[in-house]
Amino acid sequence: MKVIEHLAEAKDTIISLEVLPPTKGKGIDSLYKNLDLLMEFKPSFVNVTYHRAEQVYKKRPDGTFEGVEIRKRPGTVGICAAIMNKYKVEAIPHLICGGFSKEETENALIDLHFLGLNNVLALRGDAAANEKFFTPHLHGHKYAEDLVRQIIDLNNGRYLEDEIMDGVKTDFCIGVAGYPEKHFESPNIDADIQYTKRKIDLGADYVTTQMFFNNAHYYNYLKRCKEHGINVPILPGLKPLTSVQQLTILPKIFNVEVPVELCNEMSKAKNTADGDKIGTEWLLAQCKDLLKHKVPVLHFYTLGKPHVVYNVLKQLL
Ligand code: FAD
Repeated sequence: MKVIEHLAEAKDTIISLEVLPPTKGKGIDSLYKNLDLLMEFKPSFVNVTYHRAEQVYKKRPDGTFEGVEIRKRPGTVGICAAIMNKYKVEAIPHLICGGFSKEETENALIDLHFLGLNNVLALRGDAAANEKFFTPHLHGHKYAEDLVRQIIDLNNGRYLEDEIMDGVKTDFCIGVAGYPEKHFESPNIDADIQYTKRKIDLGADYVTTQMFFNNAHYYNYLKRCKEHGINVPILPGLKPLTSVQQLTILPKIFNVEVPVELCNEMSKAKNTADGDKIGTEWLLAQCKDLLKHKVPVLHFYTLGKPHVVYNVLKQLL
């Protein structure tokens, strides 16, 4: 079932989760353990992130080095299929432009179609670790909007090879990313929203937001998106902030503000249990407020802290 169908059918706010594939060499059991815990809350869908390959340098026997590409978290498509099979819940693979040719993307979409996966989140991805700025694959996409265009083409039966006539039409429901505090490369929030609007105008069905710790940013974003003519659902992304280290790491990586009150509280944390408690209370208050505003979804970035999300949901529902 597509995300937009879930949203259309839902009478109340629904729950969704985002998980990461395990690092290469680890099994899928810890991911299942986390999901087992959270299935009690009947999430409507589970997003699975995609991680681009990184260039690492390996020493050859003769002492020289060679650059090789290593994907540290492979398996997104397989994990989605496994989640759907095991939990009978919709799984949403993230697709990124970074590191992929259009041909590879088309083949990935065909795999998803054959597996019966009808939802994707279309993203650009970030610069590779060895790059200062995002550089597209030589035969790939520069922006998420180009990826959205390719998916829409496939939904219309248009494949990369012109010779394919009457190609099978896929039927993907497409989500895209949005940034209540603007994307870090954008000059201002309005420019950023205009680019988000282009993704919607091309045919994206909904927006999932970057995490935020101050709901005012999300409400303001909703208002501004409306002013720009964006009328699709905008799903709030929520992450537990549970440690002093994250006070500096999260703003740096995700360009998000951490409110003074949360900073002050977290600075008092003496250990992991304190951090989890403060993070739980903050996230719970955010969720209560979002529910009052009748948001369509509470989308949780569970990322290694499923028990915090569990405690929040247990108190909330
Ligand atoms: P875009 O929409 O392409 O935007 C990138 C930047 O370019 C923005 O500043 C935008 O304003 C600007 N821009 C867009 N179009 C144009 C244009 N036509 N001309 C000029 N400028 C333009 N990353 C991963 O690697 N894997 C994941 O699984 C993943 N999941 C994510 C899930 C969510 C919900 C979110 C919010 C982000 C996720 N990311 C993920 C991170 C994302 O890939 C990065 O934030 C990336 O830097 C931007 O991706 P985007 O899809 O927003 O890009």
